[in-house]
Amino acid sequence: MHQAQQWPEAELVLDARARLGEGPVWDEIAGVLAWVDILAPAIHVYRPSDGSDLLIPLPSPVGAVALRERGGFVLALEDGFWLRDADGTLRFLAPVEADDPSIRMNDGGVDPAGRFYCGTMAYDERPGVAALYRLEPDGRVDRLFGGATISNGIDWSPDGRSCWYIDTPTLGVDRFDYDHETGALTNRRRVITIEPGQGSPDGLTVDAEGGVWVAFWGGWCVRRYLPDGTRDRVVQVPAAQVTSCAFGGELLDELYITTAWNGLSASDREAQPHAGGLFRTRPGVRGVRARRFGG
Ligand code: ZN
Repeated sequence: MHQAQQWPEAELVLDARARLGEGPVWDEIAGVLAWVDILAPAIHVYRPSDGSDLLIPLPSPVGAVALRERGGFVLALEDGFWLRDADGTLRFLAPVEADDPSIRMNDGGVDPAGRFYCGTMAYDERPGVAALYRLEPDGRVDRLFGGATISNGIDWSPDGRSCWYIDTPTLGVDRFDYDHETGALTNRRRVITIEPGQGSPDGLTVDAEGGVWVAFWGGWCVRRYLPDGTRDRVVQVPAAQVTSCAFGGELLDELYITTAWNGLSASDREAQPHAGGLFRTRPGVRGVRARRFGG
């Protein structure tokens, strides 16, 4: 049995006190980390060179943010896909279940062809009503599948041939075959199984060697798995609700980690004063540049 390696605990870089910090993405051109507080709702733009964190308020809960090829962001807000231009203009692009206020968009990611995939969840987390959607660069939206509960982390392997995906309550990470031409996800199978008591899998990112980094909600850590599902490394985080992670820094050798205080009791918050903070570690492997939405 391969013994999981213990890494030093992640360091707090920003005491942001985000209610539900999520979805970090490194912009290598600007040298900043964009991330969201889903429930604030707002985008944060953290600049490590001077420690600043710009807050951009949004009109409704934001599940995910991604970079665009032409600058600015593509956003998954409560009612669908939006664009935020570099000059700050916010534009509605396409509805996603906009007539159902019990459902909001959640985690997302950009594929190797510049399409934006984003899932949904019900606010009350009722089972089976979540789905995964895909936004094409021309603005068309396709529903890929339903039957999920909390559609969460999604990312692609560095060879561009497979896609990793989490539906949180299933306590595992699935792998799809990915078709670059069509964006189709096929041949879903369970590769990473999480033992009970470790927390719930939330966001994920794939590194340059194909390792899969999974954030554990309620698990105080991020774990790395090899592509065959073997546990490899663990980075402890001094906050229980670890939501997502992304590589950043000039050399893409730093792992940024988001957390949340939402739902913690007063005594839990006292015990975790930095819950909702942004954390960072050097995990001994590099990431890949964030892919940009093509539209
Ligand atoms: Zn999430």
